[in-house]
Amino acid sequence: MNSDNVASTVLQAGQEGTRAVGAGGLGSILGTVGGTPVVRIARLAPAHVELFAKLEAFNPAGSVKDRLALGVIEAAERDGTLRPGQTVVEATSGNTGIGLAMVCAAKGYPLVITMAENFSVERRRLMRFLGAKVILTPAAARGTGMVAKARELAETHGWFLCRQFENEANADTHSRTTAEEILSDFGSDGLDMWVTGFGTGGTLKGVARVLRARSPRTRIVVAEPDSAPLLGSGLPQARREDGSAAASHPAFRPHPMQGWSPDFISRLAGDAIAAGHVDEIVPVAGADALRCARDLASREGILCGITGGATLAAALKVAQAAPAGARILAMIPDTGERYLSTPLFEGIEETMTAEEGEIASSTPGFCIDAPAPAAVAPAAAPARPE
Ligand code: PMP
Repeated sequence: MNSDNVASTVLQAGQEGTRAVGAGGLGSILGTVGGTPVVRIARLAPAHVELFAKLEAFNPAGSVKDRLALGVIEAAERDGTLRPGQTVVEATSGNTGIGLAMVCAAKGYPLVITMAENFSVERRRLMRFLGAKVILTPAAARGTGMVAKARELAETHGWFLCRQFENEANADTHSRTTAEEILSDFGSDGLDMWVTGFGTGGTLKGVARVLRARSPRTRIVVAEPDSAPLLGSGLPQARREDGSAAASHPAFRPHPMQGWSPDFISRLAGDAIAAGHVDEIVPVAGADALRCARDLASREGILCGITGGATLAAALKVAQAAPAGARILAMIPDTGERYLSTPLFEGIEETMTAEEGEIASSTPGFCIDAPAPAAVAPAAAPARPE
């Protein structure tokens, strides 16, 4: 199968599989979760490999976390831990909150999100736009602070806490959907390397265990910030009895990859490591993540967020040493539009650049700073030096 066929197979799988549910169209927006496309990255990849990206921004609320949101809520509905009309609460760096807000809006549950104040403002406003309440927590209290606040609110008010970092429904939904999509796109043993980062570790645990069982030749590569080598340090994570983190991990330092590596190794990520499902850990520098996200946009036409750029950076690193013909798949978790206020868009001007000004003034009409025609607005004529 050549690479063109890979992409077209995926698109068809998405359209015919998850999207076609009944002659009258989809039951709700929730029918569009999953079935995301795999696209060949031809221009940025070294010539001796075939590099692909799985574009999770094609989910309806724009990120990989739509899968988790739907999976966790529907599992809780099935086992009765979520009652009709009960308030849902969760701590999130944003994408989970946006996914949950979409799912809760479509199903009619009130939603309260706790989020550290240093995550991008686009995310808060999107959650509020989708009808959620967003409670900010101090940046200094990090990820563990926002998780503690969500737990406190759930206990005090009797709300349903999603517990995305420990909830098995998070990993299960990736085993059922993301992993199956990858297997049907590449076939058993048709993929040499699968590259991902981790936040909750739901993608990692859920996909890795299925690939190990059904595509054992696939190497599983996990990327993390070079400044916060939680996995690379080999240091253990302190945990409570329920598996949640009891303290910040000693190797954590703040990093720009929003959505990756919180200040602890989640239980789900820890499970994947303990099961021996990680073959390689690749550190990625913040500057490389930003550069790769910009390259993906300007040279491949793919808008992605910072963690997508970081995953691509890791995939390009392993590609250098990969054998000829190797097929490598990078997970791209979300879209660049979610980062307009962050360092990803630093240097992208709002006003015209000098070069754009030159293009503008290369013809006489419609120039912002040109003298207005005298008959229309004589008062606007440019002032003459005395
Ligand atoms: N990238 C982004 C932008 C995310 O929001 C997340 C989820 N926090 C991830 C990557 C990691 O996904 P997971 O939680 O499945 O590990």
